[in-house]
Amino acid sequence: MTQTKIFGHQNPDTDTITSALVTADIEQQLGNDAVARRLGEVNPETQYALDHFGVEAPAMLEPLEDDAPVILVDHNEFQQSAENIEKAAILKVFDHHRISNFRTESPLYYRAEPVGCTATILKKIYAENDLTISREMAGLMLSAIISDTLLFKSPTTTEEDRKAAEALREIAEVDREEYGIEMLKAGASTSDKSAEALITGDAKTF
Ligand code: MN
Ligand code: MN
Repeated sequence: MTQTKIFGHQNPDTDTITSALVTADIEQQLGNDAVARRLGEVNPETQYALDHFGVEAPAMLEPLEDDAPVILVDHNEFQQSAENIEKAAILKVFDHHRISNFRTESPLYYRAEPVGCTATILKKIYAENDLTISREMAGLMLSAIISDTLLFKSPTTTEEDRKAAEALREIAEVDREEYGIEMLKAGASTSDKSAEALITGDAKTF
């Protein structure tokens, strides 16, 4: 059987990149031959998180052959996905977005929850399967939650995201606010103006 490729959406954000890496860790612990990939350049915020926890970015996805086994994270819409995704064999999806323009030929495992971040779902998958969360994977999941919820200020933030982040912070051994602000700053300096405004505006609170 061909190795399963795990990837998130185009123009990858921190949740997409780290969820691919974390899902690969889960699949490997479950004994499945699976590896993380990306569909675009790693942004500075994500690179900060990867560097902080000493994890390498996934390689770019190779062109998908027909019936290639894949797992989608942090998206499901085909127009946000890899080229030829409609002909791939989608085995699983872990996502927190609306479901749109999605169909498969075969049955699949589909996990969607209305939470603020894919990592919040993945954190539960570890627990449900009695798997070990390493410091590295905890750090990546925490980074994804901080990124998607803009440090718990986005209206999409749920109680589950907060709870997951608190548990992950302990394993990752970082200060949630201090680390979160540094990570968001690393990205905000070049791209996301709203994050920059948010951090600057709220800096005095911390
Ligand atoms: Mn995303
Ligand atoms: Mn996300």
